[in-house]
Parts: sequence; C-alpha cells; structure tokens
Amino acid sequence: TDHGAAVVAAVARVADRIADERAYLTDLDSAIGDADHGANLDRGFRAAVEQVDALDDPTPEEAVQTVGTALISEVGGAAGPLYGGGLMRAAGQLSDGITAESTVAFAEAYLDSVRDRGDARVGQKTMVDALVPAVHTYKKSIEEDDLDPLAALAKAVDACRRGVAFTVPIRAEKGRASYLGWRSVGHPDPGATSTLFLAEELLAAAA
Ligand code: ADP
Ligand code: MG
Ligand code: MG
Repeated sequence: TDHGAAVVAAVARVADRIADERAYLTDLDSAIGDADHGANLDRGFRAAVEQVDALDDPTPEEAVQTVGTALISEVGGAAGPLYGGGLMRAAGQLSDGITAESTVAFAEAYLDSVRDRGDARVGQKTMVDALVPAVHTYKKSIEEDDLDPLAALAKAVDACRRGVAFTVPIRAEKGRASYLGWRSVGHPDPGATSTLFLAEELLAAAA
C-alpha cells in the first residue's frame, strides 16, 4: 500500500470534518476565548489539503511535514504553532513507513512537541487534556495489550473523548481562556475538541 497517498487521503478527511465543525468550534471558542478557533483551523486545513495535493507522490513524512508547515503559516493563534509544530516534529518518525511502532513514536513526538511549546499539564483545560490520554492509551494498547493499530486507535479515540469531557468542569490555566478564571468552567475546551475530531477522522481514515 502507498502510505503517502493514505496520509493525503486522511488529511482530506480531517479537513472536511474541520470544515463541517467550523461553526461548532467557533461557538466553543466564543464561550471561553476569541471565537476564532473554527475559522483558524478551517483556513489551515484548507491550505494543507491544497499543498499536499500539489505534491508528486509524497512519502508519509513529506506529506505530514507539508501539513505542519501549512498549519504553522495559516492557522495563527495559539493552536497554529501547537498543531503545526507538533506535526513537523513528529513527521520524521514516519520515515520508514507507517507501522505500529512508528505510529506510537509519531504520537509521542507530537505530544512532546505540544507540551514543550505550550508548557501545559493535564488539568489546565487545553488540548493536552485530550492528547495525553489518547497517546498513552494508544501506546499501552500496542505495547502492553498487543492490540493491532486500528483497535488501539479506536481505544485512543475513546480516551480522547473522555479527555474532552474532563475539560468541561475545570478552570482554564493556559491560553486566552485562562483570562476568564472561574468563568471558563462549564465549557469544553476548543482545542481539546478539535483534537478529538482529528483523532476520530484518523480512525475513520485508517478503518
Ligand atoms: P487563540 O487562543 O490564540 O485564539 P485558538 O482559538 O486557535 O487560538 O486555539 C485555542 C486553543 O489552543 C485552546 O482551546 C487550547 O486547547 C489551546 N491552547 C492554548 N494555549 C495552550 C497551551 N499553552 N498549551 C496547549 N494548548 C493550548
Ligand atoms: Mg481563539
Ligand atoms: Mg485568536
């Protein structure tokens, strides 16, 4: 199978989902931020699709690298460098193709990049609250429970969904939402929610 083409197809899927959820993500960000998360990501993923479509027979690493640079240059805000920088850091893990091991390394590199850049811990109401359980569940499912990557990804998506729910009753301590203090309580975090949509579409693309 052509893993580069699979990445390009997955990016198109993610972009369609983000376009569909643009208004919802904007609603979430209007409750606790500046109402631009849906528009930011939609602009970024549209550019990403255009740029990966223009590549000639890309490797998975090249395709992911291209998405990362597109997101960094087009999304802006807090989320652009976090999403784009994470993908750029993780892309190299796919240099030998897409396997159980390489996707675990990819997920861990992505999480490390987001944590290094954003300096957020679990419990501060950010995308890290969705990412940490997803990445840990994926790794454990493959390395300890011996699940195949698709089954592991399905478990990771469930963990990610619980991570989004976990952001609802807590107070934001990072990013714009932290300016609201206790008024940020009672709303899902926009970046955690968009992370879940990405994970759901990766699962659908892989299935
Ligand atoms: P901005 O806040 O600059 O308008 P976006 O609305 O696109 O950017 O993205 C907001 C999301 O970014 C938040 O919902 C949160 O998940 C994430 N975020 C903000 N700051 C951080 C951080 N320091 N670490 C991790 N994620 C963060
Ligand atoms: Mg915003
Ligand atoms: Mg903004």
